[in-house]
Amino acid sequence: MTTTGKPEKILIVGGGTAGWMAACLLNSRWPDIEVCVLESRDIGVVGVGEGSTPHLKVFFDAVGIEESEWMPKCNATYKNGISFHGWSSIPGFESYFHPFPAQTDDLLTVPLFLRNVQARLRGDYAHAHPDSYFLETYLAQNNLGPLADECFPFGAAYGYHFDSKLLGQFLSEKAVARGVKRIIGTVTEVLLSTDGAISSVRLAGNDTLEADFFVDCSGFRSLLMQGALKTRFLGFEDNLFNDAAVVLPSETSTTIPPETRSTALSNGWAWKIPLTNRYGNGYVYSSSHIDADRAETELRQNLGLLESDTPARHLNMKVGRVASHWTKNCLAVGLSQGFIEPLEATAIALSFETVRRFMLHFERGGFTNQGADDFNREINTKFEGIRDYIVCHYKVNQRRDTAYWRDNAENTKLSEHLSRILYLWQHSENFAQEMQANHLGGSYQPKSWACLLAGYGVFPPLRSSTGSPTAEASQEQDQLADFIRRCALNFRPHNELLAPAVAEQSVV
Ligand SMILES: Cc1cc2nc3c(=O)[nH]c(=O)nc-3n(C[C@H](O)[C@H](O)[C@H](O)COP(=O)(O)OP(=O)(O)OC[C@H]3O[C@@H](n4cnc5c(N)ncnc54)[C@H](O)[C@@H]3O)c2cc1C
Repeated sequence: MTTTGKPEKILIVGGGTAGWMAACLLNSRWPDIEVCVLESRDIGVVGVGEGSTPHLKVFFDAVGIEESEWMPKCNATYKNGISFHGWSSIPGFESYFHPFPAQTDDLLTVPLFLRNVQARLRGDYAHAHPDSYFLETYLAQNNLGPLADECFPFGAAYGYHFDSKLLGQFLSEKAVARGVKRIIGTVTEVLLSTDGAISSVRLAGNDTLEADFFVDCSGFRSLLMQGALKTRFLGFEDNLFNDAAVVLPSETSTTIPPETRSTALSNGWAWKIPLTNRYGNGYVYSSSHIDADRAETELRQNLGLLESDTPARHLNMKVGRVASHWTKNCLAVGLSQGFIEPLEATAIALSFETVRRFMLHFERGGFTNQGADDFNREINTKFEGIRDYIVCHYKVNQRRDTAYWRDNAENTKLSEHLSRILYLWQHSENFAQEMQANHLGGSYQPKSWACLLAGYGVFPPLRSSTGSPTAEASQEQDQLADFIRRCALNFRPHNELLAPAVAEQSVV
């Protein structure tokens, strides 16, 4: 520790995506601190987590790494959002797209969407399916990437798909080149000092590693935060039933879709994530509703891979969060701090936010724990906001074909926050305005909540059974479609954007 209190050495335990992201961020902000990453040869990384939110772009911008450098090395593609299929059986609402925000949304398209949603909530006929209102939905449906031509003044936020092992490898090489020290070893014991803080870790072979500050990136094991410091883990199993996944790659296609696809299956949902060289697929399910063998068979069936001998990987998921993410001289990042299931691909975003906010609070508090309580509150609010949005998918699902979907729909163990949002959806005069006025929404804007609820067709019956659009409403829809189509002329095909990366990848 320096005389200013600033740590001289930070030891990150774990070299998965979380560990190497943390290393890059800490090293960029505090180049004078020695940052070491300890990874084990005997214990692998989780090796999943291949879809992101726009936070990953913010991360790469923060550490000064260009897309042209990392994307080809990680077989990465662009992502406009997520399409949901089969979560609702209401005619006309069998699928919908949840887009990332675009600047055109708030200019014109979202106010129209929210107005029509409100009319439909009153029982009046109005076109309220979200797919007609968002530029990025159009981009995804037409295989266009999210990068606008320079002459188009409105940007679109976007995420990525990538090979998680390659991303970890890329970040580790980058971090090491910038001065981060990589240490290979397996922790067998975490040693505490008399004040209960961590003093060192003992490795197999009996070496010990000391540091002033520790970052726990040891994955679901959470060796430091939950193991040594005994920080409580608060499970989310009461309202998120999925606790396992089976993962299976499949062949790439000629056209690479710029979206993640989420398809509801009998006892959970399957992701389909397009990389430049393969699809990553996985079935996230509840093990108390279906066993691992049946889940694997269903995923294979869904992918047309019943006869394939490609091996599947099975994983268990511990869903919930630690009570505090920064305790004494330890910060937990990644799966060691908690995990909300992957439906909205938010884990990497939470890791990034955790490190970013920690650095701010640590600096502001003069490198003391002064800001730890505020920090923990902020991160917990983030976790719970995301959890509620994901729980909402399950609560309002419109399938009743298996006990799994019925159990989800009948679940009454909702947070007060989610209950208020669902109440507002049914009873308020202006859903979006009241959400904003009451600071509800968490990590998601009212338009995202409206998109989810409208996307599954969660509306009261129409007041008149002969509902049809007025000529004025039809004209308005035509104008909107034309506006979005003309905006989209400024975006290039996804395959074209990836062509340089694919060419580079094929010569690697
Ligand atoms: C089914 C599933 C799907 C997911 N999908 C997404 C997604 O689409 N988007 C997203 O953002 N996130 C997703 N995630 C989460 C994502 O995988 C993780 O957030 C991300 O990979 C970071 O993991 P990690 O680095 O925390 O842990 P890990 O990758 O498990 O790394 C743990 C590290 O700790 C080391 N370690 C463990 N024990 C020891 C020890 N005793 N001594 C030394 N080192 C040790 C290991 O060697 C390893 O390096 C998903 C997770 C699951 C389970």
